[in-house]
Amino acid sequence: MKTDILIAGAGPAGLFAAITAAQSGAKVVIVESNTTPARKLLLTGGGRCNLTHAGSIDDFVKAYDFCGRFLRHCLYEFPADDLRKYFKVNGLQTKVEKDGCVFPITEKAADVADILIRQAKKLSVEFLYDKKITSIEKSKTDFVTTAGNKKIFSKAVIIATGGASWPKTGSAGDGYKFAKTFGHTTIEPKAALIDLITAEKWPSKLKGVGVDNVIIKTKIKNRKITESGALMFTANGIGGPAALNVSRLIADFLPNFAKPIKIIIDLAPQYNNEQLNKEIISLCSQNPKKELINVLTAFLRKALVQNLCRQINLPAATLAGALGKSQRLQLIKKLKQLELSIAAPSPIAKATITRGGIELDEINRQTMESKLNSGLFFAGEIINADGPCGGFNLQIAFSTAFVAGKQAAEKTAEK
Ligand SMILES: Cc1cc2nc3c(=O)[nH]c(=O)nc-3n(C[C@H](O)[C@H](O)[C@H](O)COP(=O)(O)OP(=O)(O)OC[C@H]3O[C@@H](n4cnc5c(N)ncnc54)[C@H](O)[C@@H]3O)c2cc1C
Repeated sequence: MKTDILIAGAGPAGLFAAITAAQSGAKVVIVESNTTPARKLLLTGGGRCNLTHAGSIDDFVKAYDFCGRFLRHCLYEFPADDLRKYFKVNGLQTKVEKDGCVFPITEKAADVADILIRQAKKLSVEFLYDKKITSIEKSKTDFVTTAGNKKIFSKAVIIATGGASWPKTGSAGDGYKFAKTFGHTTIEPKAALIDLITAEKWPSKLKGVGVDNVIIKTKIKNRKITESGALMFTANGIGGPAALNVSRLIADFLPNFAKPIKIIIDLAPQYNNEQLNKEIISLCSQNPKKELINVLTAFLRKALVQNLCRQINLPAATLAGALGKSQRLQLIKKLKQLELSIAAPSPIAKATITRGGIELDEINRQTMESKLNSGLFFAGEIINADGPCGGFNLQIAFSTAFVAGKQAAEKTAEK
């Protein structure tokens, strides 16, 4: 079988690279190991698909931090606004939620996947399902991809096999092996955007208890990390967007760190210490005969308040009117500077994304082509680029795919 461009993987990156390459006139074959495409995409945003985020290119670059500079060109070529326009033109409006997250108006990831598949088919992209690629090699002129009993010869290859997280969806890190045969380096894949396991056992007693907004701070090797957002206590520690975003930033340090990483959580960031002190005094003086625990539910869920009071040896039945100054100050310290120690991330198989991947220095950021092999391109989560929660990772998939698809098509047209 012969084609201009072979795309490995029918996730959002592979599908969109196929669309842009075919739009530029290339003949495209896309090979997928699953029997259906876009398995992971269907799970995104809890099935609602947080497609991208509202904001300028600079906002995106900042959110991507270490890989923002690399991604800037792809974001200029295909920014979040263009992504939203693409879906709108194809019949799917999007909406921006309060926190800036963008979702399809139907809140269905399946609608996003359907458009990508339909558009690719319309452009005569050929799909080969249930075909696991086992090798990609280069002969004198062509790439030779082996998938099941098929050998596909192509002028260019785009590797879009995703990372190593959620292997059940098909992305099990195969792309790293293919890239290695072409001399590429893989930055060790690590679990990111994942629940954190704490050394302390008490969070497990609060499993399922959430806080709408917290600030988490930590410092590792002189790097200050500050993340805000919702927090959720889990069976082994903490989750929710604030904790997930911290997991991304400490992923590089955590596996090899000799001791657990200390984090400080502000459970009441809407107040500074003085304001919180005044607020507690005011609430207690208005409700002196009520149990303190019930008064403090003005800030936090009762189970959490009970647990914090226990941590400072404050009896559960203490009346609000009987709260002494030193107890109040201890309580404020717990609310504003709750300490936890992160012992480990949860396993990579459960991580939302993989941090790590193909070394960015080996990829031309203007074209997404390998600097080591002409005609070899990368798109999506396989590269060493990642973003926080909020639609930033799908935007990486779409922006890099747009550039890889277009450039691969130009390259094959030259041949
Ligand atoms: C539960 C969950 C929720 C998420 N929610 C969001 C969200 O709301 N917003 C957001 O921005 N990001 C989200 N993400 C992250 C986002 O889904 C990924 O970053 C994105 O899917 C990456 O796209 P990709 O095309 O690069 O890789 P993938 O989606 O992983 O696709 C890779 C494809 O390659 C195929 N493949 C792999 N190896 C082979 C092989 N050897 N032969 C043939 N085919 C192969 C796989 O089967 C797969 O179909 C979420 C992730 C998870 C797990």
